[in-house]
Amino acid sequence: MRPVPMQYQLIETRLQERLANGTTRCHLCLWRCKIGHGQRGFCQAHVNRYGVLYNLSYGILSAIDIGSIEQKPVRHYRPGSQVLSVGSYGCNFRCGGCHNLDISWGVSALDELARGQSRAAYLTPAELVQAAKRHQVQGIAFTYSEPAVWLEYVLDVSQLARAEGLFTVYVSNSFVTPEALEMMADSVDVLCSDIKSLEDSFYQDICRVARVEQVLTSIEAAQRLGIHVETRTNIIPGKNDDMAMLQGIATWIRDHLGADSPWHITRFFPAFKLRHLQETPEEILWRAHDQARSIGLRNVYVYSGKGCDCAEENLPVAEFLAADPDQLYTVKRCASDCCNEDGVLLKKYENSDS
Ligand code: SF4
Repeated sequence: MRPVPMQYQLIETRLQERLANGTTRCHLCLWRCKIGHGQRGFCQAHVNRYGVLYNLSYGILSAIDIGSIEQKPVRHYRPGSQVLSVGSYGCNFRCGGCHNLDISWGVSALDELARGQSRAAYLTPAELVQAAKRHQVQGIAFTYSEPAVWLEYVLDVSQLARAEGLFTVYVSNSFVTPEALEMMADSVDVLCSDIKSLEDSFYQDICRVARVEQVLTSIEAAQRLGIHVETRTNIIPGKNDDMAMLQGIATWIRDHLGADSPWHITRFFPAFKLRHLQETPEEILWRAHDQARSIGLRNVYVYSGKGCDCAEENLPVAEFLAADPDQLYTVKRCASDCCNEDGVLLKKYENSDS
């Protein structure tokens, strides 16, 4: 395992390409952002400092909780296991129905990190794995926020977790590069991925550069790489509740992941920009279930309660840790001196989405 910092600092982005004039390209997710000095990528979690790209959120936890693996939802990998779920800040999508806005998009939290003003909790991979063992769980799940934009920490934790006999679960939108998937395959055990729709227009509403085919290709590649894959569709009234389209998702899973591949159908609950919509009628969930079963998909699960892996507020991280809260919530300033006289404060913290 690579050396890890014992205190908060910016960590070099694992998949970056150095371009001319100090510009960098991030290859963690399929945005493949091109980022100049002082700018951050679309997710806001990676910043270019003098021609090198760094992850701002390494080791920074927004939420933590303990529950069953079935809540992720994952049902065909170590059923009955307990997992320690953690999330950070940052996402590469902007879903109108997001239930985790503060911790998922986390833009203001990432702004505070960029300014050296954050008091968010920081845990080394070893501290997180020790917390999992102390609570006697069998696995660690990266969830709540998109783990692709936090991959440096996810990889370090996953390697250590595996060495300590714990498995890891990666809950994702699968808008991730093949290069990142290959890195994950060595240490991540389970991918629970959304298939939100088979319509490009649905994806482009929440991520203007995303196409369905990219997401499906990533999910299939993850399975081919040996990661245990389960998929989930959150059915939103009027957005992705067309029965022919839902049958198309079930058919794709059957043909590309296998007839035994689990599909989780979850219910939409109004939130954020989609607050005006109704909860999904249960009858729609069951119709999608029945038609999936009728075309030969054998493991289809319906969740009429909250099937999404939501953390509605920042959970009290200190409650799960042995750390002194006064130490845990100190101001996070990068411990490295690579920014020279600028210190940790960015002169600019511009947003970039190109
Ligand atoms: S959105 Fe974030 S993780 Fe994705 S390519 Fe851009 S900087 Fe990298």
